[in-house]
Amino acid sequence: MDSAPPPDESARPGSPGIRGRIRAPKPNGSGARRPGRRVRATLVAGGAGFLGSHLCDRLIAEGRRVYCVDSLQTGRLGNLDHLADDPRLVFMEHDVRRPLPVFPDVDEVCNLACPASPPHYQKSPIDTVTTSIVGTLNLLEMARDRGARFLLTSTSEIYGDPEVHPQPESYRGNVSATGPRACYDEGKRVAETLCFDFIRQYRTDVRVARVFNTYGPRMRLDDGRIITNFIGQALRGEQLTVYGSGRQTRSFCYVADLVEGLVRLLRAPGAVAGPVNLGNPEEHTILEVADLIGTLTGRRIVLAHRPLPEDDPQRRRPDIALARRLLGWSPRIPLREGLGATIDWFEPQIATSLPLADAEAFPSPPCGNGRGPRPGRGLGG
Ligand code: UDP
Repeated sequence: MDSAPPPDESARPGSPGIRGRIRAPKPNGSGARRPGRRVRATLVAGGAGFLGSHLCDRLIAEGRRVYCVDSLQTGRLGNLDHLADDPRLVFMEHDVRRPLPVFPDVDEVCNLACPASPPHYQKSPIDTVTTSIVGTLNLLEMARDRGARFLLTSTSEIYGDPEVHPQPESYRGNVSATGPRACYDEGKRVAETLCFDFIRQYRTDVRVARVFNTYGPRMRLDDGRIITNFIGQALRGEQLTVYGSGRQTRSFCYVADLVEGLVRLLRAPGAVAGPVNLGNPEEHTILEVADLIGTLTGRRIVLAHRPLPEDDPQRRRPDIALARRLLGWSPRIPLREGLGATIDWFEPQIATSLPLADAEAFPSPPCGNGRGPRPGRGLGG
């Protein structure tokens, strides 16, 4: 990673571990350029998070400079550890609600900055809604002023508890403006509004991805979402907490597929007129996911039913016809394969991990499961 003093007071380099090796660019960008070679840069807000760090990897592999901006509220420097010595990555601890410094060579701005799991985004709901709205506004202004291309990772939560299935981009959704999920859903809806108003008012080059449930290595074990909860619980020999009947559905996309979709959308030539769904259209019930995780971990699964959270959507599956047509994109990695890689990544961490986000609200006793041999799973971790 590159090293230079932070350009403003809001960038706070820390002390321990990797943070001590990460610095921000010099205000004039002189520390960020190699003589004789013009390297263009992408700013990734939320770049230390699960999805953001995989996007940083992809952009660095393309040879771009990456300015990774993250408040570290839910993102982790550990997600960037492997890039610690790479001069093309410049990290800045910064809340996107505050004004951003000038990054001279940025021609792409990607906004992934917002906690995305229900327990995390509901913990501090006002921060969640303001991060989406004020953060997106600040980053859009930066993109407009620099003539940079802008990508927003919006969400399938735009569709709320959908009455149309599967969900095409034209569906306007069924979202509560006042419920516990509204801080995330409505924040993203206003962020989308800002994007399309920047196109109308300033002709900023903006792309909006509506990201459906995504999973993979580098999710937080205390994330509180289904995949991490179930994997953690299965590997610990605990009961799997199924909210409601477990017959509600989701469609899960492996992170490598999702990042490919994001990059194709970011680079799509010409103007992109509206939001684009990115997700895996293969739909599963929660009970099916529990069963599959039992098979893949080789553990005997015992379910513990818990109350369904308020406003929990009953069905969710993306219509990805637009992404197929516009980007030539569709997910390649089946759930079984992606879950295998995710389990392989989590397994070594289980012994030393934090309790699950759910554990306090819904304590579940260990249940002495039989531990059979685990089937081979592909993808390699
Ligand atoms: N869920 C569950 N047990 C868990 C975590 C989640 O049954 O330990 C259910 C949750 O009620 C929802 C689905 O799994 O119906 C997906 O929840 P998640 O929090 O992963 O994401 P969402 O799509 O709701 O944002």
